[in-house]
Amino acid sequence: MVEGLRADVAGREILRGVDLTVSSGEVHAVMGPNGSGKSTLSHVIAGRPGYEVTGGSVRLDGVELLGKPAWQRAQAGLFLGMQYPVEVPGVSMAGALGEALRASGRGGEDVAARIAEEAAAVGLDEVFLSRPLNVDLSGGERKRNEVVQLGVLRPRVAVLDEIDSGLDVDALRAVSRRVAQLATETGMAVLAITHYQRLLAELPVARVHVLRAGRVVDSGGPELALELERTGYAAYGAEEAAG
Ligand code: ADP
Ligand code: MG
Repeated sequence: MVEGLRADVAGREILRGVDLTVSSGEVHAVMGPNGSGKSTLSHVIAGRPGYEVTGGSVRLDGVELLGKPAWQRAQAGLFLGMQYPVEVPGVSMAGALGEALRASGRGGEDVAARIAEEAAAVGLDEVFLSRPLNVDLSGGERKRNEVVQLGVLRPRVAVLDEIDSGLDVDALRAVSRRVAQLATETGMAVLAITHYQRLLAELPVARVHVLRAGRVVDSGGPELALELERTGYAAYGAEEAAG
């Protein structure tokens, strides 16, 4: 899916040739120290402005996403959960998701009922559903919100940045369980970005990739995350001058 991806931010090369392939229905983790380029990777995949792609490709079911605007990538089946989601005053979850479903040619009629179902699945109080999207939510509410969106939109590929940040154990469990179910039931491929092994205690992953200084320096099974928990990232060498 991601091949030889290189990208600059503010004139500095942050991604230096990233290769990753996630098959349908699989959950992979991307781990790595602070500043290794994890968020940059998710933003470049999603087509967020401000990143200059200098090489490589990002394909979804064979379709090249690079060069397409973010909304077309979403239409092609990509979902990005951001480390710090954008607050959207004036737009409710039902409004945003109904619009997204219609834009991708799927009916948005029963969207309120589907949102309610997904909210129940992750224990999100319905009061949040009528509030403006992502405004004034706690960390846990925001991430539950994100998974509700996933459940309604059913993307082909979900890139989830720090989905475990700010979550208590119960929220982490609820969110992880739903993500795993969606992968199994809908064939959604998931790239779960995290620097904590604790996410992987709740979310079973097929593969773990280690990102360091803008490159995937190691890949392995779930046991790799446990190993990292013990050894840290030092085994991959000193971090290069960070700016
Ligand atoms: P991670 O998510 O792995 O912690 P990031 O992708 O957020 O890492 O950041 C990687 C590097 O890119 C860091 O050195 C960071 O300072 C730099 N960086 C990220 N975004 C910007 C930006 N908008 N302007 C300048 N530098 C940036
Ligand atoms: Mg980050």
